[in-house]
Amino acid sequence: MLATQDVCPSTTAHLTNEEWRGRLRQNAHVISVLMWSFAQDAAEFAKTDAWEEDGSATAIDWIRFNCNMASGAAANSVAVGETMARLPESSQALTEGEIGFAHLTTMARTADALDERFDEAPLLQKARENSPGKFYRICEHYRHAADPKRYAAEQAEQVENRYLKLSTWQDGSLMISGQLDPVGGAAFLTAVKPLARKMGADDDRSQERRYADAVVELASGGGSQAQIQVTSSVETLLGLAGAPAAEMEFSLPVSSKTIERLACDSSIARVLLDSESLVIDVGRSKRVVSEPGRRALNARDGSCRWPGCERPAWRSAAHHVIHWIHGGTTDLDNLVLLCHRHHWMVHEGNWQIVHGDDGRMLTIPPTVTFGLPRGPDQRRRES
Ligand SMILES: [Zn+2]
Ligand SMILES: [Zn+2]
Repeated sequence: MLATQDVCPSTTAHLTNEEWRGRLRQNAHVISVLMWSFAQDAAEFAKTDAWEEDGSATAIDWIRFNCNMASGAAANSVAVGETMARLPESSQALTEGEIGFAHLTTMARTADALDERFDEAPLLQKARENSPGKFYRICEHYRHAADPKRYAAEQAEQVENRYLKLSTWQDGSLMISGQLDPVGGAAFLTAVKPLARKMGADDDRSQERRYADAVVELASGGGSQAQIQVTSSVETLLGLAGAPAAEMEFSLPVSSKTIERLACDSSIARVLLDSESLVIDVGRSKRVVSEPGRRALNARDGSCRWPGCERPAWRSAAHHVIHWIHGGTTDLDNLVLLCHRHHWMVHEGNWQIVHGDDGRMLTIPPTVTFGLPRGPDQRRRES
């Protein structure tokens, strides 16, 4: 059994940069050659009944479990091993360090897909000249050119295979897992990525958190959609002590702060106030900012008014500086555009946003933070 010090000798402390480069290249080459040798063994192993003896469904399954490998890596090993005979020049190039095992895997998959239409020499030249990632794309183009029908069929199959699993946990959180085909995935990323960018130098949210925020923002549809249905008492909407939580479709009971935010720009379809079974159809009441009013607000603010934020108007909500539940009007001087995140910070996050003397908006952090994130643009605001 190898010990860590055999593979990672502790003599690297004084390596020069050039020695570091050589060391990493050399080790990567050794790994590639070992993977290549492993692939040959894996293909031979697949021909035996050793894996069946152990009760595995496939040789790949046996390798995955017994060699501590991800299923993709195990499958690649067998595939490369089985195709090796058709890739003599590529094998040679690998042992000479011209290409890596990742190149060889792509080569093998391409040879598999194209059968007799596969031509090793020109592709190997491309492999020598390009990184594995780029080479993969080149091979995709090559496969499309050689067999467009099969390529299209594979893409159609990827669409058939896409899925999204949604399961609600006991605490009401939604677990999401799934898979999208490349085209669907690209559409998703095109919508989500711009919303998941860092908002200012002090935005210390992780990338995963920003993706999650972006998906919620996308689903919330900025400030204009009226879809969510809630049932709330007047006391809850007023945030009075002792008031119950509000009921919201597809959710566990939600806090009065959240209802306050949803009611603020009326992204809820209706509020059913239950004390006297009074139904206020927010969608048609005067509390909603009218179309011309909203256009005037968009023209005045242009984007989210949080200092340093540039989320466009169509992605922002019309925030009532004094909430309509407390008698605030829908007049322009009581309204300010806030994007999804900053609207959340004002209501649930307890930040305040006020008009400064010079007409600019000032933000005031909550006095008790409970670990809430700092405002993304605090540094800029204070400077
Ligand atoms: Zn608001
Ligand atoms: Zn904003």
